[in-house]
Amino acid sequence: AVHGGYRTALERGFAGGKVPLGLKRKGLRIVVTGGAGFVGSHLVDRLIERGDSVIVVDNFFTGRKENVMHHFGNPNFELIRHDVVEPLLLEVDQIYHLACPASPVHYKFNPVKTIKTNVVGTLNMLGLAKRVGARFLLTSTSEVYGDPLQHPQVETYWGNVNPIGVRSCYDEGKRTAETLTMDYHRGAQVEVRIARIFNTYGPRMCIDDGRVVSNFVAQALRKEPLTVYGDGKQTRSFQYVSDLVEGLMKLMEGEHVGPFNLGNPGEFTMLELAKVVQDTIDPNAKIEFRENTADDPHKRKPDITQAKELLNWEPKIPLREGLPLMVTDFSKRIFGDQ
Ligand code: NAD
Ligand code: UDP
Ligand code: UDP
Repeated sequence: AVHGGYRTALERGFAGGKVPLGLKRKGLRIVVTGGAGFVGSHLVDRLIERGDSVIVVDNFFTGRKENVMHHFGNPNFELIRHDVVEPLLLEVDQIYHLACPASPVHYKFNPVKTIKTNVVGTLNMLGLAKRVGARFLLTSTSEVYGDPLQHPQVETYWGNVNPIGVRSCYDEGKRTAETLTMDYHRGAQVEVRIARIFNTYGPRMCIDDGRVVSNFVAQALRKEPLTVYGDGKQTRSFQYVSDLVEGLMKLMEGEHVGPFNLGNPGEFTMLELAKVVQDTIDPNAKIEFRENTADDPHKRKPDITQAKELLNWEPKIPLREGLPLMVTDFSKRIFGDQ
C-alpha cells in the first residue's frame, strides 16, 4: 500500500532501513519522539548530519525549541507539536521512541501522565511501526533494575522494583513499555530494538531538572553549595551524551533486538562526583547534605559486555573529559554570552 503517497522502506525492500549491498544509501525518513529534549536533540543532529530526513514529535513538556532551532529551514527537518498519548499517522522508515520525562523531578510531577506516556504513548508508536513496517527503538532505562541486588547489572537481571512507590510511574512504565515492545515483535513481527540507558549528562540538559550532574554543575557555577542527598555514598555511572547517541544508532542499524545496556561503567559515589565538579569548576564549592528521596537505588553500574560484543560499541568519554564540555554550555545559558 501507498501511505499518504509515500512508499515505506519496507515496500522499497529496505526493511528497517537496511540497504542492499551495492546500492548507494538513500536517506531514510526517521521519527524521533522526544526529539526536542536533551538526548533526542543530539540524536537529531547526528541523523541530519548523516543525510536522513528527521521528523521530531514532541509536546515540549521538558523539551525546548532552542534545542532543535538550528535545523529550522532545513527541508530535511520537521517539528510537530504532538503528545504521543494521542494516535499519530506518519509514513516513516524508523522510529526512535524517546518521548518521556527522564528526571525524577519531572516524571513525579504528574505520575499518571508519566504512565500514560510510557504505556499509551509507546503503544501508539508501536501501532505506527506496525502499520508502516518501520523499525522501532525504545529508550528504556537502567531504572528497570530498581534498587539492584546484582552488581554490576547484566541485561538478564530482572530487577528489584517497588511497584507502588513514587518512582514506579517511571520504572514500571518503562518495564511495561519493554513488554509491549516485545509483544509487538513476537505478535506482529515489528522489528524492534531496546536500549536500557544509564545516567547520561551533557550540553542541553535542563538546568533545573533536579538530576545530580545538572544540579551540581549549576550550583557550582552559581556559587551555591552542592546538595548531596543522603550520605552521598550511593553510586551512579555517568555517560557522556555523544557516546549514548552513537550506541543508539549502532543498535538501530544492527541485527540485535536487545535489551542492551548503554552506559559508562565508570562508577562514582555522589561525594566523588562532587569532588570532580569541585576540581572542574570551583575547588571552594561547599557541600551541603540533604535528606534523600524515597526508593533511591543504592548503586548502579552497567555491565556492557553484550553491547561491546554484539554492537561493537563502548563509551569513549570519561567523566573528567565530558564534564567540562557541559560546563561550557551551562555557563553560557546561566550567565549569557558576556
Ligand atoms: P528529556 O526530558 O530532556 O527529553 C524527553 C522529551 O520527551 C522532551 O523533549 C519532552 O518534551 C518529550 N515528551 C515527554 N512526554 C511527551 C509526550 N507525552 N509526548 C511527546 N513528547 C513528550 O529527557 P532525556 O534525558 O533526553 O531522555 C530521553 C529518553 O531517554 C527518555 O525516554 C528517558 O526515559 C530515556 N533515558 C534517559 C536517561 C538520561 O540519563 N538522560 C537515562 C535513562 C533513560
Ligand atoms: N496507531 C497510531 N498510528 C498508526 C497506527 C496505529 O497512532 O499509524 C495507534 C492506534 O490508534 C492504536 C495503537 O496505535 O491506539 C495500536 O495500534 P494497533 O493497530 O496495534 O492496535 P489496534 O488499533 O488494533 O488496537
Ligand atoms: N542526588 C544528589 N543531589 C542532587 C540530586 C541528586 O545527591 O542534587 C543523588 C540522588 O539522590 C541519587 C543520585 O544523585 O542518588 C542520582 O540522582 P538523579 O536524579 O540524577 O538520577 P537517578 O536517581 O534517576 O539515577
